[in-house]
Amino acid sequence: MNDLRSLPSIEQLLQTRTAAELIASFGRPLTLDAIRHVLSDIRSAYKDQSTIPQRHLVLDLAREQLEAWTAPTLISVINATGVVLHTNLGRAPLSKSALQALASLSGGYSTLEYDLELGNRGSRGVHAEELLRRITGAEAALVVNNNASAVFLILSALAKRKRVIISRTQLVEIGGGFRIPDVMKQSGARLVEVGATNRVNLLDYQEALQEPAALVLHAHQSNFKIIGFTSEPSLSEIASLAHEYNVLFVDDLGSGALLDTTRFGLSHEPTVQESLAAGTDLVCFSGDKLLGGPQAGIIAGRADLIAKIRRHPIARAVRADKLCLAALSATLLHYLKDEAEREVPVWQMIAKTRREIEIHARHWQENLGIGEIIEGFSTIGGGSLPGETLPTYLFALKIEQPNQFLKRLRSANPPIIARVQDEYVVFDPRTILPDQDGALLVGLQNAIKGIV
Ligand SMILES: *Cc1c(COP(=O)(O)O)cnc(C)c1O
Repeated sequence: MNDLRSLPSIEQLLQTRTAAELIASFGRPLTLDAIRHVLSDIRSAYKDQSTIPQRHLVLDLAREQLEAWTAPTLISVINATGVVLHTNLGRAPLSKSALQALASLSGGYSTLEYDLELGNRGSRGVHAEELLRRITGAEAALVVNNNASAVFLILSALAKRKRVIISRTQLVEIGGGFRIPDVMKQSGARLVEVGATNRVNLLDYQEALQEPAALVLHAHQSNFKIIGFTSEPSLSEIASLAHEYNVLFVDDLGSGALLDTTRFGLSHEPTVQESLAAGTDLVCFSGDKLLGGPQAGIIAGRADLIAKIRRHPIARAVRADKLCLAALSATLLHYLKDEAEREVPVWQMIAKTRREIEIHARHWQENLGIGEIIEGFSTIGGGSLPGETLPTYLFALKIEQPNQFLKRLRSANPPIIARVQDEYVVFDPRTILPDQDGALLVGLQNAIKGIV
């Protein structure tokens, strides 16, 4: 019968063994939704003389629908792009011990705000914040949700309805809609711009300081570079000048390197320690950029200011959760023990030598029996060290339709994210984590099968 009346009813479908299995796997309400959805699709696609699908086919379609509805969207991928802090791919991968800390804490209760000695309420400030004090030499520290909220919180707590002086060279948009001038406006601070787009000098700051101000803000340019006819005073010069006028000096460092990037052939990224040593009252930076930890915003500096910020209502709204504090503490311990270069994946990747990378790429080439090894560049990404590159070797495949091939790679399990350089699809060993190497080779092998 080619008639809609022959379509099985929900009741009939529910009596089958397959339906019982679907209910066991996906729950009754969702299974019912899926069956209704499929039946309604069949009805609306029906034309005279179409074949009406039988029960098992309707249930197959329902299973597909259920699988699509319940498939996770946040999944692991293999980052073969060579961009170490790829913002779209979740920035910094965590260290082994940060993962262990997450695993052992997340399934149970913890001393998040509990003092074991006294047997009563403790402070969540004793975990990562104590480590930050030791590592940076700051008097105090505060951990919040991310660096965007750190900037917002500092301005809200210290500069509401007051003037905040910032150079026009630093009115940056970090990405994702985070623009320094907009954040200032939202916090209630009054923006006072000084200098020109490419140059600012101490006299510009001094003129603005003739009227009362809450603070001078310095923001790291992060994701762009001004080249050519440029100049900016040093942090310590701005700090001394601000202090002469009894005005605070705050440095939004962005990536918050704790290690010296020049050791790895990169240009100099201002470190947290240097910024504090230059006389800044507060610095703030991200947890998941060059620090190599979880998403977090860290404020470090003068204890009296941190105490004031901690009491502000927004501090409660943007506070860090236990998982963040667990992973951040584990990451910070690597710095305290002077083992960050060995243990923090971001620094392991940056520290890889060209020779190591070449050997890795040749290993892929031998395994797959295809491809070339070419020279190229990895980048840091994540709004850190713009324009800075690290020389690398790439495993390269000459492909007729590179975009189609990239798509195939993205449908691998786990998905492989590669990039195109000239007429090649290229894979940078720098950003491949050791335990992903096998999966990468299998995924590549399958993708190649389809084209050669
Ligand atoms: C990245 C960055 C931010 C934003 O930090 P998130 O942790 O992503 O919120 C703010 N300021 C600067 C200078 C940055 O580089």
